[in-house]
Amino acid sequence: MKITDLSVIKLSYPVEPVMADGIHYMPGRNLVIVQVHTDAGITGMGEAASYGGPMESTEAVILNELRPRLIGEDPFKIEYLWRKMAVPSHQHGRGGILYHAISGIDIALYDIIGQATKTPLYKLLGAYREEVQAYASAGFYSGTKSAHDLAEECGNYVEQGFTHVKIKVGRNKEVMLNPLHNMPFNDYATVTLEEDLERVRLVREAIGPKTRLAVDANNAWTPSLAIQMGKEMEKHNIFWFEEPVDTDDIEGSAHVAHVLDVPVSGYETCFSLPQFREIITRRAVDIAQPDVIWTGGFTETRKIAAFAEAYGLPVIPHVFSSGLSLVANLHFIASIPNGGLLEFDRNKNDLRTLLFNEQVEIDKRGYVQLPDRPGLGVTLNQNTIDKYRVK
Ligand SMILES: [Mg+2]
Repeated sequence: MKITDLSVIKLSYPVEPVMADGIHYMPGRNLVIVQVHTDAGITGMGEAASYGGPMESTEAVILNELRPRLIGEDPFKIEYLWRKMAVPSHQHGRGGILYHAISGIDIALYDIIGQATKTPLYKLLGAYREEVQAYASAGFYSGTKSAHDLAEECGNYVEQGFTHVKIKVGRNKEVMLNPLHNMPFNDYATVTLEEDLERVRLVREAIGPKTRLAVDANNAWTPSLAIQMGKEMEKHNIFWFEEPVDTDDIEGSAHVAHVLDVPVSGYETCFSLPQFREIITRRAVDIAQPDVIWTGGFTETRKIAAFAEAYGLPVIPHVFSSGLSLVANLHFIASIPNGGLLEFDRNKNDLRTLLFNEQVEIDKRGYVQLPDRPGLGVTLNQNTIDKYRVK
């Protein structure tokens, strides 16, 4: 089998009201789908992360930079093709947009192999489990949402069957060096540190003592503030504390992880095995959170999972994009022994719920079953593509 071409579909879903985390303002949700075509009539697809810049930039890397290196190649030679994509572009980046692009292509190549061998991807990769427990990822800031609204929102997730809930913290302008200061619309939906603690307290009250509660600061705090806030939040029984500090402050994160009892998790903003090697060996995290659409596809992210396993660490991937990112990370988690929970975005997004002709949803116990169809096991819903497509 030979690769004949690559193509890209760009989609955008408007978010109303606008949502925000500790540092990002999100008026819309973007999706870059990569399709890899073959002479066997099989087309594989994957998602390339589109965070941090326009989708057109990612598209240009896929089509102009990587596509010529793949045409005519055998899609089964994934390890070879991964390096054929990454190594010649090393001056262009050892992370960032290049890895977004490689991730999408790598997922599509695995989808091709799954379809060609008529095997669901998670089975092709080792099938450690047949179902994965999901956690409700939500609790964002938005213009009109009060702390009481947030608590009510999180209570609803428990009623839907979730036993784990994650909320955002860190949208505090009073914090010096908060990256928020350099972000657009940084006056939107901000709170004080005291208000953040109140949000955590009210959510804990609403979800009851048995539901596990995680908090995510999206790099907003300094190490000393993260420790100070972490000690206060620990009183409300926090399950993990995600990206407390700047991604590049590895010593700072290690210090936070050492001082606090609550496990520190991250960093979705890391790329590649070498970057995860640093945060794992220097004990900057207690839980590793790579993302197959972002970190380097199945190929690189599975190596990170194996590295984390050697350090006794669980892997709870970052999953916060479309249905395609959800299903790709679902296969990944199901295939590794140290796979933890599936991050399940609860914000309204048609690019998650209506992207496929098939449904990927939680059951009443809060678990997601793996699809029993070849490859990723999903097909695109043409109506949704037509509705949200960006030319
Ligand atoms: Mg996060």
